[in-house]
Amino acid sequence: MMTGIPSFVKTLMAALDRGGYESFVVGGAVRSALLGVPVHDYDLTTNATPDQMKEVFRGYRTIETGIRHGTLTVVCEGKPVEITTYRKDSAYGDHRHPDHVEFTSALQEDCARRDFTVNAMCAGMDGSILDFFGGREDLRNRIIRCIGNPDARFDEDALRILRALRFAARLSFSIDGSTAEALRRNKDLLNFISAERIHDELNGFLEAPGCTELLKEYREVFEVFIPELKALTAARYDSLCEALERAPGNSLIRLALLLSYVQQPKQILKRLKYSNTDSRLVLSLIAGKEKPAAGAADIRRAVRDYQDDVPAWISYRCALDPSLDEEEILNIYRKIIADGDCCSLKQLAVNGDDLVQAGFRGKQIAEALDTLLEEVIEKRLPNSRHELIKYSEVMKKW
Ligand code: ATP
Ligand code: MG
Repeated sequence: MMTGIPSFVKTLMAALDRGGYESFVVGGAVRSALLGVPVHDYDLTTNATPDQMKEVFRGYRTIETGIRHGTLTVVCEGKPVEITTYRKDSAYGDHRHPDHVEFTSALQEDCARRDFTVNAMCAGMDGSILDFFGGREDLRNRIIRCIGNPDARFDEDALRILRALRFAARLSFSIDGSTAEALRRNKDLLNFISAERIHDELNGFLEAPGCTELLKEYREVFEVFIPELKALTAARYDSLCEALERAPGNSLIRLALLLSYVQQPKQILKRLKYSNTDSRLVLSLIAGKEKPAAGAADIRRAVRDYQDDVPAWISYRCALDPSLDEEEILNIYRKIIADGDCCSLKQLAVNGDDLVQAGFRGKQIAEALDTLLEEVIEKRLPNSRHELIKYSEVMKKW
């Protein structure tokens, strides 16, 4: 039984039922409900055609962006629900998209086109489960298994290779033996998948708690779209994977860890369509992989270099080096912020104009400011205008 189907979903199912159509909750919602984890969105599948759905939901706010693939989004009680006409598989010429969309009136055919057994269970309005492919059994045994012949399913749509890894990581499931073999055999088909889709799946995978073991186990799959990883020794690669486990479930911090020792991480990020903001963070973390993090001055220097990203750097740095005490470093950082310690040129009690007044010229000005900031960060000088100007007079004589 699937319990707790909310009223906004039941209302839509009842409307279809009154129109003479059947509908079922399908996919992730059923999987999550049976696992007892929160359901984040509900998808319905129905034998009503798109035109018939539009008729049934005339009085509702609807969004038609997916209508060519048979999906109508209907808003009920302010929440959007995707409702899709039963579809069946047609040929996949490009290893990603079916050549054309074909509707069917048979629920079982709609389930058969879905990727994994645990994603192909349906629930009726009363919560009763329909399970044509042994999804419940696989859920119980915590297994990701393709529906049908795994080689054929990965060949149709190679994105399923990454989806299998993402679901296995997220749910802490294992991948069934023949699905796993097919996944490796077909890995090169990932070359047909757009960088945008790989980007999204990779992020979802890296955020998942169970990604470390899968990264190790399926290294060759990740090397298809990050061939730069091939240059790492097994010991290095495995230790980076283990570092991911110590980091928070943040895809950018974890990606930085994975790419800490590759050549040209910038090119990889660009190729995988990471935004400039995301790339900047990842690259700055990698650039700080060996920055000292022992004392307060080190952390003040990190504030100078990372500003708001200091906590991300602390997580990254501590994940790479388990001998560091993250809690202790965070406490130092919190104290620096609470005390308002000077860590940046902006906070420094003197500025460029003051140094011009003191007789500095050209690039000496920036150099002198950096030196003063360093003295303040080290707490060899207080951040006082008077003291800093006095010190700059001394510096001028050097
Ligand atoms: P999530 O919690 O990540 O949203 P989900 O199971 O809802 O998990 P979606 O990507 O939202 O996953 O897809 C919804 C459903 O559509 C899946 O459960 C699956 O049945 C089917 N599906 C999605 N993508 C594919 C695909 N590439 N091949 C076959 N079936 C797919
Ligand atoms: Mg979903």
